[in-house]
Amino acid sequence: DFDTQDWQVRDRAHYLHPFTDHAGLRQTGSRIAAHAEGIHVWDTDGNRMIDGLSGLGCVNLGYGRRELVEAVAREMAELSYCPSFFRTSHRAAITLAETLTGLLPDHLNHVFFQSSGSEANETAMRLVRRFWDLEGRPEKRVIIARELAYHGSTHMAASLSGIPPMYGAGGDVPLPGVVHIRTPYRYRHGRDMDPAEFGVVAARWLEEKILEIGPDRVAAFVAEPAQSAGGAICPPETYWPEIQRICRKYDVLLVLDEVVMGFGRTGKWFGHRYYGIEPDLMQLGKGITSGYLPLSATVISDRVADVLIDKGGEWAHGYTYSGHPACCAVALENIRILTEERIVERAEAELVPAFAAGIRSFVDHPLIGDCRSVGLMGGLEIVRDKATGEAFPYEAHVGDHCSAEALKRGLALRANGDTMSLMPPLVTTPDQIAEIFAIAREAIDATARHFGA
Ligand code: PLP
Repeated sequence: DFDTQDWQVRDRAHYLHPFTDHAGLRQTGSRIAAHAEGIHVWDTDGNRMIDGLSGLGCVNLGYGRRELVEAVAREMAELSYCPSFFRTSHRAAITLAETLTGLLPDHLNHVFFQSSGSEANETAMRLVRRFWDLEGRPEKRVIIARELAYHGSTHMAASLSGIPPMYGAGGDVPLPGVVHIRTPYRYRHGRDMDPAEFGVVAARWLEEKILEIGPDRVAAFVAEPAQSAGGAICPPETYWPEIQRICRKYDVLLVLDEVVMGFGRTGKWFGHRYYGIEPDLMQLGKGITSGYLPLSATVISDRVADVLIDKGGEWAHGYTYSGHPACCAVALENIRILTEERIVERAEAELVPAFAAGIRSFVDHPLIGDCRSVGLMGGLEIVRDKATGEAFPYEAHVGDHCSAEALKRGLALRANGDTMSLMPPLVTTPDQIAEIFAIAREAIDATARHFGA
């Protein structure tokens, strides 16, 4: 028995939500989540919502798995916290570091833990600059990231992000020394080009930027394998091999943000496996615990780690909750289930084709200009004019309208600008995939009617 209105009043009084227009929220009130199971979340009024986004791209294993809860309880009863000063380590963190490096390419053998994806990016960026300092090349400082990227909300992570509203949100970001290049967004930057050709053209934007700044000044390139919050932007196959070549040529560290793509989103265990990338550093988060507890990892190549360890002395960087035992234990249990139940392999075989077909089924829809997906991440880009690709004016908030239409029908469908994004849990069934696309179609049809398209 819940008194929803009472909870809404108390919610409004004291609790500031992430990424929220609080004035708007005051008018509508919030939904109070009460319970979740599998791919569904119920609110305190008993309404059921299909979580088409896996929380925020994290609940890969679905909600409510008892084994994960029990793994946390067991670890907490044993070791509720590890005092990591005094050279004290613990078994859950050791085992997790070992397990992760076993899943990753041979040259990635060292792991630093934090609680969030934002912090993982902070660690990576401090480490990159520390590396070049220790190498005696302190002038190598500039970080190149991409437009439309989202890497987090702390100062450096927000700076790496290429979403302009992030910059107005306080904190004088982007910080100096961070620059952005265009992203391989073929629908907007190369619609008339063959995908393979466009992939190379888009990768060369990195080379042009490196040459403009001077290779001796560029420390690293940071990117997601495919961009999630940017609006499901999936590069052509030719993009990453060319990026890899360019980074090697100019000795620019390749830093891969796998916070969303890691742990199965692309239909492979990691985005770098899907695209064939060999990064120097890699950030993992979200799906590492399927969202059951906060944990992220920055994984570091032997080349970078050797310099840090042999030349570095103390590295003054770390967090109270680096490698928290309960978080490491739940990550291990999550990875055990993903492995033993072959969740990623089954998703790739049984869900990805149906998901891709569901996305493609909007090709002829008058409101949808572009349909794109990789694995279980997809985007449907709403346009005003399908022939020219002209977008609706920003003030129309067409994406938000569509998202509200979907929510009315019981589906969480996110608007990334005008792109409607889907990232369902890896444990979604084929029938549920069909249900998700049926609701998405109703929401998009209703949006088309509303905007006269
Ligand atoms: N990196 C990527 C690619 C993300 O999408 C996000 C969050 O959405 C982050 C980093 C930041 O992670 P967190 O919200 O855990 O700080």
